[in-house]
Amino acid sequence: MNKKEILEKFSADPQRYYNVNLFEDHGFERISCNVCNRFFWTLDSERVKCPDHSDDTYSFIGDPPTSKRFDYTQSWKEVESFFVKNNHTSINRYPVVCRWRDDLYFTIASIVDFQRVMGSKVVFEFPANPLVVPQTCLRFKDLENVGVTGRHFSSFCMIGQHSIPNENGYWKDECVNLDFNLLTQQFGIAKKEITFVEDVWEGGGSFGSSLEYFVRGLELGNAVFTEFQGDLSNYKTLDQRIIDMGAGLERFAWITMGTPTAYDCCFGPITQKLIQNAGIDSDSSVLVPYFTEIAKNLELYDDLAQVRKNAIKKTGLSDEQINRIITPLEGIYLIIDHIRTLIFAISDGALPSNVGGGYNLRIMLRRIVSTMNRLKMKFDLDEIIDIQIDYLKDTYPELENTREDVKEIISIETGRYDSSKQRMQKIVGKLNKEPKVEDLITLYESDGVTPEYLKEMNVISEIPSTFYAKLSDLHQSKKQKEQVNLPLEGIPDTDLLFYGDDPREFNARVLKSFDNFVVLDKTAFYARGGGQEPDHGKIGGQEIIDVTKHGNVVVHEIKGDVPKEGDAVTCVVDAKRRDGITKNHTSTHIINTSARSVLGSWVWQHSAFKEEDHARLDITHHSALTDEDVMKIEDAANSIIEKSIPVKIENFDRGTAEQKYGFRIYQGGVVPVKSVRIVSIGDLDIEACGGTHVANTSDIKQIKITRTKRIQDGVVRIEFVSGYGAKEFVKKKQQDSENKEKEEKLKEQEKLKRIENRQQAKERIPLLVENFSPYVFGQGRSTIAEITMEHTESGKANFCYSTSDNYDDVFHIGLGEAICKADPMCIYCGLFEQGDKIRVIVYAGDEISKEKSAGDIVKSISQILGGAGGGSAKFAQGGGTDKSKKEDAIKNAKSMINE
Ligand SMILES: [Zn+2]
Ligand SMILES: [Zn+2]
Repeated sequence: MNKKEILEKFSADPQRYYNVNLFEDHGFERISCNVCNRFFWTLDSERVKCPDHSDDTYSFIGDPPTSKRFDYTQSWKEVESFFVKNNHTSINRYPVVCRWRDDLYFTIASIVDFQRVMGSKVVFEFPANPLVVPQTCLRFKDLENVGVTGRHFSSFCMIGQHSIPNENGYWKDECVNLDFNLLTQQFGIAKKEITFVEDVWEGGGSFGSSLEYFVRGLELGNAVFTEFQGDLSNYKTLDQRIIDMGAGLERFAWITMGTPTAYDCCFGPITQKLIQNAGIDSDSSVLVPYFTEIAKNLELYDDLAQVRKNAIKKTGLSDEQINRIITPLEGIYLIIDHIRTLIFAISDGALPSNVGGGYNLRIMLRRIVSTMNRLKMKFDLDEIIDIQIDYLKDTYPELENTREDVKEIISIETGRYDSSKQRMQKIVGKLNKEPKVEDLITLYESDGVTPEYLKEMNVISEIPSTFYAKLSDLHQSKKQKEQVNLPLEGIPDTDLLFYGDDPREFNARVLKSFDNFVVLDKTAFYARGGGQEPDHGKIGGQEIIDVTKHGNVVVHEIKGDVPKEGDAVTCVVDAKRRDGITKNHTSTHIINTSARSVLGSWVWQHSAFKEEDHARLDITHHSALTDEDVMKIEDAANSIIEKSIPVKIENFDRGTAEQKYGFRIYQGGVVPVKSVRIVSIGDLDIEACGGTHVANTSDIKQIKITRTKRIQDGVVRIEFVSGYGAKEFVKKKQQDSENKEKEEKLKEQEKLKRIENRQQAKERIPLLVENFSPYVFGQGRSTIAEITMEHTESGKANFCYSTSDNYDDVFHIGLGEAICKADPMCIYCGLFEQGDKIRVIVYAGDEISKEKSAGDIVKSISQILGGAGGGSAKFAQGGGTDKSKKEDAIKNAKSMINE
């Protein structure tokens, strides 16, 4: 079943699918386009072509069909007041970061606000009926069109008009009536100008007819009637029919202003300011025909370069005019558009990065910088942000709160890009042919080189039109969760005691047992979920090692004998373990809010893990944490504990919770059930969470951050301990540092002692030399201060040695040299320990060295010591590791000398 088939079928029965009261009442004619055969409804009897093929297409540029002029902000005020007047509730926009859907990073349409995924089904939850919402939507597929076509944006405001046809809401007749009146009464567009084109919509298993409405070729809105499910040969009406009318606010402003592009009337005063700064002559006699041609050609050609070429040819613009006016204008539009999108995305908690949705934001930021560089424009991004927020806050006052955060993130990210340029330059230098789309994607994916940069460096002249669509596809899909199939069919939901009295001991009945698993009628064992590890304990005396939840059935894994089905069993939850895990869980909430208050509004929980004795929280943040950051977060967390704040748990209907607390509640991700459990710590932290929590923050006693680490681009891990664990950790840390201090003191003392010894020894050298001199000493053997001298008869070698550990290398070298100088027949041998080695230093006096070589002696001694050494006849050194061989070594030296 494709759209074309559905349209054919529906258009064959217009009475059933398209005719509405409005058409009857006003006498609209149904006409088939004489170019494409498409059916449309009009009051203009001369109209024979559909809006895509009409001659008046885009004739509103320079000649708007209204007497009133409304810019972007004013247009919303008009739309809002019209619908409110007509019994609609005006809802604030939802975040552009789509926290309530697992399958979308960003909000792409107003209807997405109200869609919730339950299992494989999409359900609608309306906070009011009927309603209207100015929903900012992000779309990245047509990035290359932005700035060039005059009407493509990376983000736009979709006016969402939504209704469920029940006692409060309405269906087709009323919807089309309202839309017609909005255009004619509120905006003052002549009835004849409005054309409704027959179309269809299908997706997610349902489909229905739709009516697109156009004025002078510009599609202003599309009213979709989601009505059926099944296939074309057999379909039935949905239980929940929905009106999904989406209209582009930017286009409403544009049609009344008639500016050359939609950008001129939607970015407030910033466009004019940048045009002035850049010194561009924005002569409307050039721009009106040029952008009218661009708009017309866009319907005719897929290739943007072709569209541009045709428009230039048709309007006869010179190269000089293109370079001086058009190209810089396109750049300015792009910059403003992209910054506006970044303002919304960063305000709603997204960060530029190389993963997930952050990817598109980084791409846009790099496009901004490259465009400025290529066109040699120097704009102050902070100023652009300021002017834009000043302009947007009339409609979106919440942007004021994140003004500085947006600037901070954009400045960090711009700095990063600038510093990566050298690396990019090298990579680009190695390219030896013009890269194809696939090459461009590889260049960006693996090296971060953007096509804008290549354009800036004149490596490519145009960015291929498929680049952004391909890139976007690559990053669109999300991982599907693994499904485990257990034989649980027909088993009733487990009664979850941990959400009630939460006893540590209870009796239960075994409903099912298989392999090592058992299912009870009720349980107080917390099942692994939301990053909280499962409880342990005993069921029927057997140890429980894991607990998991499958749908609403809790499955316990047993080590040992599994009880039989029908058995009554006594169950005991490991209270100490649960207590540790619970403290750590509440602590993750506390650290999360503390990190956000210390670091910035962009901090969200990325993921979390809570065990008995340790836990971690991964948060979104642009850089690694400094020691100061960590200290501040820890202090903030501990002050929440000190304040003894009660932890409140309440259940809400999901829609109510969202309206009451906003989307910050979704820190742990999407909640796939209708009733959400809200855990609040005063008004400091309010999260949807299914975990176990302490009753009061003071129960935690203390939080200690043990380690932090940047684990991926834009994500920082905070490891911590809490409660008893934190106390132990702090105690151990204190002990460690005390021990370390002691050790260091001891080392310092030893060092001082050695210096002192050395000094003393040095002073002793002349005295020793004097005492051992042959003239003083005569023959025989004597030991002074652990130094032994053996004098033999004259003409033979004298031997002086020491194995004392009181002497070091400096001493031995000093004494050896001095003694051998005073006595040319003396051989000196010093053995001493140094660390885990034993070293030897040997000197031989001038005379004796002619017969006995110091080198030979060292070589021999070192061998005995289990090492090696050598040197000259007069001086040598070496050593080994066998400290027990000291005496053997001296004996060996003596025998060599006396031989
Ligand atoms: Zn047509
Ligand atoms: Zn939680």
